[in-house]
Amino acid sequence: MKWVNHQVLTGVIVYAATDDMLLTIYSMAGAIFPDKVEGSPRAGNYWSWRSRHRGWSHWPMLYLGLIFFLSRLEEGQLTALPTADLTTIGIYICIGALLHIAEDAVCGKVPLLTPYHKVGIRLFKVGSVSEYLFTIAAVLLCYGLRTHFSFLS
Ligand SMILES: [Zn+2]
Repeated sequence: MKWVNHQVLTGVIVYAATDDMLLTIYSMAGAIFPDKVEGSPRAGNYWSWRSRHRGWSHWPMLYLGLIFFLSRLEEGQLTALPTADLTTIGIYICIGALLHIAEDAVCGKVPLLTPYHKVGIRLFKVGSVSEYLFTIAAVLLCYGLRTHFSFLS
């Protein structure tokens, strides 16, 4: 999925779930993190990049482990400490990364239980018109769910 679609979709999902603009911004930074750490396919050796693509950087267990670790840290500290904000930022960057991986799993394969065993379905080609239509449909779905659940509460 293109970075713009990763950021839009992740931002809409997190905003619909949290109603918090700052948390949305942290998650949008995380939404491109798994690709960003791999470096650019155009800088250096393409095949070296290709072999790393959607490997460790796209392994959900890594981010789930980090969220678990950061939430432990958050529980154990006084809320007055500025580090409380840093753990929240870290957690939402990880949430953004996890959404990135889920979004990649509908246009190719990503790791699941181990970094080497990949799963996923290819609903569309990256950068295709279908990708943008998928993103628009997913955004509308979030909006619909959000509207539906705010009627209930
Ligand atoms: Zn990716």
